[in-house]
Amino acid sequence: MTLQEHIDTPRVAVVTGSDSGIGRATAVRLARDGFDIGVTWHRDRDGADRTADEVRAQGRRAAVRQADLSDLPAAAAVVDALADELGGIDVLVNCAGTGTATPYLDIGLDTLRQVLDVDLAGPFLCGQRAARRMIRQGRGGRIVNITSVHEHQPRVGAAPYCAAKGGLGLLTQVMALELAEHGITVNSVAPGEIATPMTGQTDTDVHDEERPGIPLGRPGDAREVAAVVAFLVGPESSYVTGASWAVDGGMLRMGPQAGSHLADDSWRRI
Ligand code: NAP
Repeated sequence: MTLQEHIDTPRVAVVTGSDSGIGRATAVRLARDGFDIGVTWHRDRDGADRTADEVRAQGRRAAVRQADLSDLPAAAAVVDALADELGGIDVLVNCAGTGTATPYLDIGLDTLRQVLDVDLAGPFLCGQRAARRMIRQGRGGRIVNITSVHEHQPRVGAAPYCAAKGGLGLLTQVMALELAEHGITVNSVAPGEIATPMTGQTDTDVHDEERPGIPLGRPGDAREVAAVVAFLVGPESSYVTGASWAVDGGMLRMGPQAGSHLADDSWRRI
């Protein structure tokens, strides 16, 4: 497909977990770029409706469905339901996610399984459903998995999250290898600290926040993550697959530097 054909083709993007935060910012940005959007929510139906309103305000269509990715494999059917309603699927952004703030020694099997389901098995099964449809449609596609800097580096209190996001990062690479022959690219986006409900920062101006441990000195805005997703699902990234894109203000580069500058042992506790 030529660049112009790609631009001219009606396009549908499903963004899981798009009732708030990075998912909402991505849904709205992709609508601005010409995509119709499938929105999923877990608990926040009002948030999903607000996202859909913002999508429609960009002149695009929106379809909204509930999905609890701890209820697998059933919940993954949301991808097909949204694709049926919107007439296909060209892009899947696996954005829904959850985590813990519990010491490794205190985490039970139920919690471990819940995080692994939402953050790893859910994207695995949603990706399968999206890829099968993209192959049937015969015009390629794009899958972006939202991981985290904890795809690459650990965090105290986040053992299941790190296991899931690290797994999702390597899953992304296998998907990229296996789906390339079908014209489907698969990449991950690894955010650092982003101002969203997950980090307790709603309605925050990130430029007012100081983060001495982050090279750029502040948290990120969800729209800064959405901009990278937009590139990865757009026509300009046609030769990019199997990559992990950090959107972290340089946080991942701070390992040894931070390690030699921490003044006390407080990092060992949550
Ligand atoms: P958020 O606004 O709280 O978004 C989390 C999303 O996941 C919400 O849409 C939530 O739905 C959904 N979700 C939670 N549990 C679910 C479940 N059981 N089934 C289906 N959906 C579920 O926070 P966010 O920061 O934008 O997070 C989006 C993604 O970015 C996550 O994968 C997260 O790990 C990743 N990330 C965030 C940061 C950060 O600093 N904010 C950093 C690295 C990575 P409801 O709201 O309806 O419950």
